[in-house]
Amino acid sequence: MAVRVGIIGSHGLGLALGVHGRGESHTLETPFGPHAGPIITTEVDGVPVVYVSRHGRGHVFNATRSPYRANLFAMKLLGVTHVLATGTVRSLREHLQPLQLVLPDQVIDRTYRRPCTFYDDVAVHVELASPFCSTLRQVLANAAHPNGPTVHTEATYVCVEGPSLSTRAESLLYQAWGGDLVGMTAMPEARLAREAEMHYALVALPTDYDSWRPLPAGQSHEDHLSQVSHHLQLVTASGAALIRRALPRLAESRPSCRCDSALAMAISTDRARIPDEVRSRLRPLLSRYLPPNVA
Ligand SMILES: [Zn+2]
Repeated sequence: MAVRVGIIGSHGLGLALGVHGRGESHTLETPFGPHAGPIITTEVDGVPVVYVSRHGRGHVFNATRSPYRANLFAMKLLGVTHVLATGTVRSLREHLQPLQLVLPDQVIDRTYRRPCTFYDDVAVHVELASPFCSTLRQVLANAAHPNGPTVHTEATYVCVEGPSLSTRAESLLYQAWGGDLVGMTAMPEARLAREAEMHYALVALPTDYDSWRPLPAGQSHEDHLSQVSHHLQLVTASGAALIRRALPRLAESRPSCRCDSALAMAISTDRARIPDEVRSRLRPLLSRYLPPNVA
């Protein structure tokens, strides 16, 4: 399959992958405003990639304000077909330990203050039963290094709005729902990728346990925060290493998904009633299904 890889993560992930200051830097216009920062087209170990820092340089956008739609639309404009993302999470389960890596297969979306779709002006209902691409998840799972950190291949990610972390009661509630991880960025990113017919998988980076779990006896809050900060650096490096190992395997992967035709049966609005302005604005997403000559 034709593969063009996009990578979305923190500025730190970009540092770990060595993409900053290399290749070409792009600023693209999108119908959804500016993307989070320069989009970089470069190579990682000889594989061409398109990179964007989700929170912009200097982490200027929090998880609510990150321009998810513009980031993914710009990637679509640059021909990206497959998106590998990373995001920090807190663990809801004893066995999902900080510094291990997790490839979530499910999401519970608890966000409520961020635009969640490309399609405000047309009724489009993509399937989201499996919100992460099975092909990409398999490639990432196969790329785990035998001597590297454990890579868990099933987990339900509870995406919260933030910006504060969970209360203890919320954390226990998420556990009762079957949640395994808490984070703030998987949604709407995974949904938007599906709406743009891009394959998308997330490498979740656990830095800590969520608030259901008391701090270890004798550990001060300050010591704990310092440990989390250290964990963030280590687990980001592990996530980057996994992505590096996955990149050359992507071109040979055998598709086990239908992400790239997600819109085929998803457009409910009568085609004749979709205005030219909307067709034109969303052309990179919809042109396969709404050719300009359809009146
Ligand atoms: Zn897919």
